[in-house]
Amino acid sequence: MIPFFDLTKQYATIKSEIDDATAHVLKSGWFILGPEVRAFEKEFAEYHGVQHALGVGSGTEAIHIALLALGVGAGDEVITVPNTAVATVAAIELTGARAVLCDVRADSMLLDVAQLERAITPRTKAIIPVHLFGQSCDLDPILRIARARKILVLEDCAQAHGATYRGKRVGSYGDIAAFSFYPTKNLGAYGDGGAIITNDAALAERVNLLRQYGWRERYASDIKGMNSRLDELQAAILRVKLRHLDAWNAARRGHAALYTELLRAVTPPRELAYGQSVYHLYVIQSSNRQSLISHLKSRGIGTAIHYPQMIHRQAAYTNLGYGAGSLPVAEKLEREILSLPLYPELALDDVRAVAQAVNEFV
Ligand SMILES: *Cc1c(COP(=O)(O)O)cnc(C)c1O
Repeated sequence: MIPFFDLTKQYATIKSEIDDATAHVLKSGWFILGPEVRAFEKEFAEYHGVQHALGVGSGTEAIHIALLALGVGAGDEVITVPNTAVATVAAIELTGARAVLCDVRADSMLLDVAQLERAITPRTKAIIPVHLFGQSCDLDPILRIARARKILVLEDCAQAHGATYRGKRVGSYGDIAAFSFYPTKNLGAYGDGGAIITNDAALAERVNLLRQYGWRERYASDIKGMNSRLDELQAAILRVKLRHLDAWNAARRGHAALYTELLRAVTPPRELAYGQSVYHLYVIQSSNRQSLISHLKSRGIGTAIHYPQMIHRQAAYTNLGYGAGSLPVAEKLEREILSLPLYPELALDDVRAVAQAVNEFV
């Protein structure tokens, strides 16, 4: 049996560190926006080489709050991709803005920069490049196109903690960036959590107000805000895990390299030369996906599809107005993508067994 994912294995490797960190918080009696959150924010900002990091309640809320901080609202358009977690588009729509979808490249499955300019209108306020499956989008041309038109860039880094683009970590390129700490992400909490990073002090200050009722001082709302806070327990857990992130990402890269070396007759994910993927997911393409899934299942191997329905094909988002065939590359990926088991604690023999089972089939 090789399950698609197993979070218990990671906890076993860091149990004493986690247990100490959580016990410390429980004994402290302080649970919201305290010393652990402050320390995590400092460490997370340093890890990215940026000035400011702010913990929030989830990745969805990180995107939502970052957009509000950028001034995005009703009447604006925000460009992103159709193959992302629904959260990216849900967060855009929560601001009252409209999501505009740009198709992706078949090889990297990331935003196709060649099609980006066509998606821009006078209403375009921001672009959200999604660093999907752990790999950075091609940020230089995206930033060039955006800056020439005074369009803001929010990096969706929910799947790319530690991934690099031209030698620097993603999240440090755009005006602002959003992270998720959902348990299965490369850096995952034991519950919900998220963060926003930026080098812009004014944006950081707006995020700080928005995440807690618009309070500059307690009980005095300067602006209209909400409640979206990272809690002390999750921050303490994330501080422990941040110390292991680079080693875990290196393990993921090793597993991915082995898969890519061994797999035959399916299309492996392509790593582009400008950076290093952290392989949040290892996503192959197969024209015979359904039979491949059944074959792997019969061998006790778990797989998953990220995501089974592109955003514009989901009932809630038919309002976006993209009919069948309007985003053809994403729609082909919808039929062919398949995620194989890949997490740091997976044994190399398991990677070999999965690759062998795939190769037997095709
Ligand atoms: C997970 C994810 C999110 C949302 O994060 P949550 O913490 O689950 O709200 C946003 N964007 C992408 C690309 C994601 O993978």
